[in-house]
Amino acid sequence: MRKNNGFYLIGMSIINKPKLEVFPPVLTAFTRRVETFVSSGHICPYCNGEGAVFGKQTGAKEYEIDECPICEGCRNLQANINIAWEPDRTNN
Ligand SMILES: [Zn+2]
Repeated sequence: MRKNNGFYLIGMSIINKPKLEVFPPVLTAFTRRVETFVSSGHICPYCNGEGAVFGKQTGAKEYEIDECPICEGCRNLQANINIAWEPDRTNN
């Protein structure tokens, strides 16, 4: 379990997706009420972690190799999760 302010990464669900538990951190009138959690190391689903995709066909069985437009060749993706804490007026 990794702690990052108000977030606990509590492991993987049965379908191997990260699961986050969200709770308010210790806040004061002077603390920033926006938290950022970064979840990295996710294999790019567009190129299956290759970092490249087939581009324009140049011959019978030949293709240009293009950089993956989603991961930009990094092979992995990261999720930047921002949570802004604000007054809950839904039940007032
Ligand atoms: Zn990719």
